[in-house]
Amino acid sequence: MADDSSKPACNWWFSTVVVVDLTLLQRLVGRLFCVVILLAVAGCFSTNPAMHTVSVDKRSHHVVIRYVRANDTLYSIGKKFGVDYRLIAKRNHIHYPYRIYVGQRLYINRTAPGHHDLTAEKIRRISTPYRSVHKKIKHKRIHKKRVRKSAHLAKARGYKGRLIWPVKGVVTSKFGPRGSRMHDGIDIGAREGTPVHAAASGQVVYADSRLSGYGKLIIIRHAGNLFTAYGHNSRMLVKKGAHVRAGDVISRVGHTGRATGPHLHFEVRRGSTPVNPLAYLPR
Ligand SMILES: [Zn+2]
Repeated sequence: MADDSSKPACNWWFSTVVVVDLTLLQRLVGRLFCVVILLAVAGCFSTNPAMHTVSVDKRSHHVVIRYVRANDTLYSIGKKFGVDYRLIAKRNHIHYPYRIYVGQRLYINRTAPGHHDLTAEKIRRISTPYRSVHKKIKHKRIHKKRVRKSAHLAKARGYKGRLIWPVKGVVTSKFGPRGSRMHDGIDIGAREGTPVHAAASGQVVYADSRLSGYGKLIIIRHAGNLFTAYGHNSRMLVKKGAHVRAGDVISRVGHTGRATGPHLHFEVRRGSTPVNPLAYLPR
């Protein structure tokens, strides 16, 4: 409370009664006590723009209240207190271009003892990754939302669970590129002779072993230009032209054609285009 260049200037709401009291107090006790009493009794913190700082210990932070003086800038105040001016701006809800006015009350969070080596540069470095991490999380959330949305759309289109598993077994080879070639279906491992079921209702359009590599092959046409194919069978139990219902036994698992062991090669095609059977099968 050293600067006595200006007289107390209270807020507009401060009653004249208190101002009168103030004058009396000034005469009687002096400026220093006046200010203290004003703070205690009236809670009027902006009585004197020239007033020095008031410190309050708050948890690990040392909160300082500072009143803006003539020629002060946020930067100069920050520099004086060793705090990044942007942190002061944030703490006091001051936005760019950081205009401040004489007599304005500023709260300054000084770092706790032992942390005073946190320079503005360090704070910047610490706070920057935080911001980018925060951004990443937000992005991830949006991405997740999109994936969920597309999965929801696929479900809405009714692909998933549209077919039933032709054989209960483990998928030993997935749909997609396999070495230099495309694997147009999935391989389901099963014992020789295991019953193979029609994946959906439809008509058998092919039941033969003339197609190279597939061995004894059955192809069924379903509604919506959807086809399913069952390869490497040991026995075929339906003929071309037969109408089948979902779940009907159409053949037995084997290893005819180009197959190293007994398994079902199962394909799904939309028209002539092979699609991933797993997108159509229930989990
Ligand atoms: Zn295969």
